[in-house]
Amino acid sequence: MTMEYDDRYHQVQRPKPKYDCLLFDLDDTLYPLSTGLEKACRKNIGDYMVEKLGIDESKIPRMCDLLYKNYGTTMAGLRAIGYKFDYDDYHSFVHGRLPYEKLKQDPVLKKLLLSLPLRKVLFTNADKIHVVKALSRLGLEDCFEGIICFETLNPNQHSSDDGNDIESEVESSAGARLFDILLHFSQLNAGEDLPKTPVLCKPSEYAFEQALRIANINPHRTMFFDDSVRNIQAGKHVGLHTVLVGTSQRIKGADFALESIHNLREALPELWEDAKKSEGIRYSGKVAIEASVTA
Ligand SMILES: [Mg+2]
Repeated sequence: MTMEYDDRYHQVQRPKPKYDCLLFDLDDTLYPLSTGLEKACRKNIGDYMVEKLGIDESKIPRMCDLLYKNYGTTMAGLRAIGYKFDYDDYHSFVHGRLPYEKLKQDPVLKKLLLSLPLRKVLFTNADKIHVVKALSRLGLEDCFEGIICFETLNPNQHSSDDGNDIESEVESSAGARLFDILLHFSQLNAGEDLPKTPVLCKPSEYAFEQALRIANINPHRTMFFDDSVRNIQAGKHVGLHTVLVGTSQRIKGADFALESIHNLREALPELWEDAKKSEGIRYSGKVAIEASVTA
């Protein structure tokens, strides 16, 4: 009799909610691509490469494309192929002149996010100044319990310091040790491996693992939102539930696809149902504890 009761007791108390955390990318995920920020950012990156790194203008589009595709961010790629620069200087050049006025307060999204009693964490490759500015323009600064950004994953790399600076500076300014990524990809059988980057960012799986560890997130109970296919696929690899944002076309690695983050409730009603379930469990748990005390 007692055993039977115990089994039923456990069944009532145990059905865990499926999710306990939502992990969001920022740019082009929490606001649409149509704001034009991404385009402006790309232009600024190109200008930085010409003005500050002395790269030939004609090489910029192809180089940006290759670096971004192979390293996650153009910055991570530039560092990999041997350019040395100050990260804060790069970020202020690239993000400092963005048309932030294009980002408008989004009370609809704010209400949606706050209506979900789940942990919400931001995971972006961007720097902290950009994150704070963008969130405040969108009016979403109170929606997240934590932010994982460039500085979180690259804590000691505010500048190009890497221990043997003087030698490196000489080498890179002389162009001696720069890796020619255009040449590399122009060869049909490019046998040489690409150089590694010291910058940790999405879509590196190690970057995901670090972010999950720092924010104490269990990927199996977390829904991850990002507009980048590569990031979504890497997220899937580390065990996250994935939502591709910005398109309704689902791809391999994405559990869901959302044209806009505003469609959250329509596309993922299970998040709210799940949250309700978890409230129910808390309640039934409380009753069960009281009952067992009385018994
Ligand atoms: Mg993005």
